[in-house]
Amino acid sequence: MPQNRKPVLIAGAGPVGCTAALLLAQHDIPVVLMEALDELPMDLRASTFHPPTLDMLDALGVTPQLISQGLIVPTFQYRDRRTGEFAEFDLDLLRDETRHPYRLQCEQYKFTRVVVDMLKALPHADVRFNHRVVGFSQDGEGVTALAWTPDGEIKIRGCFLIGAEGADSKVRQSAAVLYEGLTYPERFLVMSTKFPFEDHIENLSDVSYMSDPEEWCVLLRTVDLWRFLVPTDPQDSPEKVLSEDYVQDCLQRVCKKDGPYKVEHQLLYNVHQRVAETYRIGRRVLLAGDAAHINNPLGGMGMNGGIHDAINLAEKLVTIINEGGDMDALLDLYNRQRRLICIDFVQSQTAKNKEMIEATDAKTQRRRQQDYMRTANDPELAKAFLMRSSMIEPLRESYEIQ
Ligand SMILES: Cc1cc2nc3c(=O)[nH]c(=O)nc-3n(C[C@H](O)[C@H](O)[C@H](O)COP(=O)(O)OP(=O)(O)OC[C@H]3O[C@@H](n4cnc5c(N)ncnc54)[C@H](O)[C@@H]3O)c2cc1C
Repeated sequence: MPQNRKPVLIAGAGPVGCTAALLLAQHDIPVVLMEALDELPMDLRASTFHPPTLDMLDALGVTPQLISQGLIVPTFQYRDRRTGEFAEFDLDLLRDETRHPYRLQCEQYKFTRVVVDMLKALPHADVRFNHRVVGFSQDGEGVTALAWTPDGEIKIRGCFLIGAEGADSKVRQSAAVLYEGLTYPERFLVMSTKFPFEDHIENLSDVSYMSDPEEWCVLLRTVDLWRFLVPTDPQDSPEKVLSEDYVQDCLQRVCKKDGPYKVEHQLLYNVHQRVAETYRIGRRVLLAGDAAHINNPLGGMGMNGGIHDAINLAEKLVTIINEGGDMDALLDLYNRQRRLICIDFVQSQTAKNKEMIEATDAKTQRRRQQDYMRTANDPELAKAFLMRSSMIEPLRESYEIQ
């Protein structure tokens, strides 16, 4: 570590903590990245990287490594599950706006592994597993994080602390910061299989949102797997919806085949729309990623928005630490820029995405499908739609907030 410089402390080695740590360490700022688990989790959660996220991660040297492990997806569809009609959006319309005019389908655990390997090669990045952050205190000079380790409780001193330990953030909870919003009554079930849906569902794109008044669903492809997402009835118990019969029924309904599906992985989870009341706690503690906000996965904006937080915050910390920038002005600006865009765009857009796909009235669903088709077939409308759904425009807008 550079001598006499207190590190930036980061709780959580998820996509958001890893991104912040890498940007800071690449600017010669010492970091201590603390992860509660004894190794990186193999999370089968996020798999979609949007164009502006790939542009930002390119500046850190990460994107080529993600591309080599992921699947480039140039188009995505909104489909009518019953008729097979589809609206197809071509991300190539964004070629003048981004260096990566496509979605990259790559599991988030591949991303954190790439970043932690890069961190290990940087002299002042200190990655510590088995360090569960449970609280902190701060004063005029710095912040002290309290962590549980196999050797007992330890205290680590730093200049700032970033709480990036996910929705269950102890940094946020120990400061009693409200995490306002709602939890939907239904849970979502994701099943992964190697079955080649592309050979059995006509014209299927690698990312397809399928509406249906009875059961909407999403089909997403990664390099090795298809992931199939459906909502479940709130009245059904977790045991029921995770049972072999239930899972097989769901898969047979989307694509009938002889014999049972081989299911590689399944996950049932609660879905929330929540935002912390502030992303800045006192002067030196900040929240980012799921610790600060959470939303439903329709549109793939949770991890992407969290990575955008991490970059925005780390850039401001570089200005403060390396160039003597105004700490209060810059960290308050981080809070405004990222919290407002989360409320005004990510929360409202993902809630709308859910509302659009789940119409139970057949007429409404037909009308929405026709609207998507009209938009997709008009290059100007389609580009305007893609500028928002790929998060390019909201990211630019966030930097304009003063
Ligand atoms: C099924 C599903 C699909 C999704 N798909 C997408 C998608 O395609 N695109 C997208 O953008 N988003 C998606 N999301 C959301 C995305 O997974 C999250 O937004 C993202 O993981 C948040 O990253 P994070 O780093 O903030 O938190 P996390 O990924 O939750 O990482 C937090 C890390 O902190 C560690 N930790 C926890 N507590 C402590 C502690 N006290 N001290 C130290 N470490 C701790 C955890 O072990 C973990 O490693 C999806 C979510 C789900 C559930």
